Amino acid sequence: MSATIIDGFAVAASVRSRVASAVANLKAAGTQPCLAVVLVGDDPASVSYVAGKEKALAEVGMADRSYRLPVTASEKELLDLIAALNADASVHGILVQLPLPRHIDEARVILAIDPSKDVDGFHPISVGNLVIDRPGFLPCTPHGVLVLLREAGIATNGAHAVIVGRSNIVGKPLALLLARKDCNATVTICHTGTRDLASITRQADILIAAVGKPRVITADMIKPGAAVIDVGVNRVEDSTAKKGFRLVGDVDFVPACEVASYITPVPRGVGPMTIAMLMHNTLLASERAAEAR
Ligand code: NAP
Repeated sequence: MSATIIDGFAVAASVRSRVASAVANLKAAGTQPCLAVVLVGDDPASVSYVAGKEKALAEVGMADRSYRLPVTASEKELLDLIAALNADASVHGILVQLPLPRHIDEARVILAIDPSKDVDGFHPISVGNLVIDRPGFLPCTPHGVLVLLREAGIATNGAHAVIVGRSNIVGKPLALLLARKDCNATVTICHTGTRDLASITRQADILIAAVGKPRVITADMIKPGAAVIDVGVNRVEDSTAKKGFRLVGDVDFVPACEVASYITPVPRGVGPMTIAMLMHNTLLASERAAEAR
């Protein structure tokens, strides 16, 4: 068997194109959607993620307010900036790139963002809305995974979805989304306390890896015919690559392709969807602000 590769890059491009049309309509009606992107410090991975987000904003016609704070910036400086952005009606979404330097309390920063501008979907109000099925902002990566499954025609109804990883930004919200009535999957969450991980992953019709360790999911852990979604992004040394490293997922990709029916590659799988769903959320925030005017 050779798995169908799900082209996250192409699906993300079609999401961005839908967003771009809606942005054009909003602009014609007098609203310029705008996202404030806040980066503290110069962690290379964060700098690269932020550059990707800003490129996407330009592509869909949204305004981008960039704020770069030095790594020495205090928590108060960051909270003051967020308060100013909360109060600024021309800013519809606020994104603070994580992780933050150690001296800044991430939870306090997330809590400071006005929930109506919480386009990352990390604020406890957004999380609560997700838990009780109320409209709000869905976190971008889990939402992107759902869109990929839908676009690839992978049925979730009645499927056993196994998620490896229980982080607040990927594993937990994805489990909640897949267990909602509209997806109707039966969900199992695995983590470092899980006994005999392979015996559980082998039961998955849909296997989602959100671990952050290269090749932790091997081909023998996959049920023949399963759909495999690889959220992991890991840098591995590669002296033949220009930058000295390359990106791989959590799944041992080539052997997994011989067992799975569908699989996402890394890169060009889930990653582009995260940015596309951020554009989607910023559009939602802008539309809601325009309606409220
Ligand atoms: P995280 O907060 O580090 O969580 C990792 C999870 O994996 C934890 O729940 C951990 O269990 C579990 N885990 C670690 N080793 C395990 C093992 N050997 N067996 C079973 N479970 C194990 O990571 P995250 O933020 O969710 O990110 C996960 C990966 O996705 C990373 O590579 C990250 O870069 C990537 N990511 C990609 C995107 C994207 O847009 N493509 C977005 C976000 C994240 P415990 O809870 O027991 O520690």
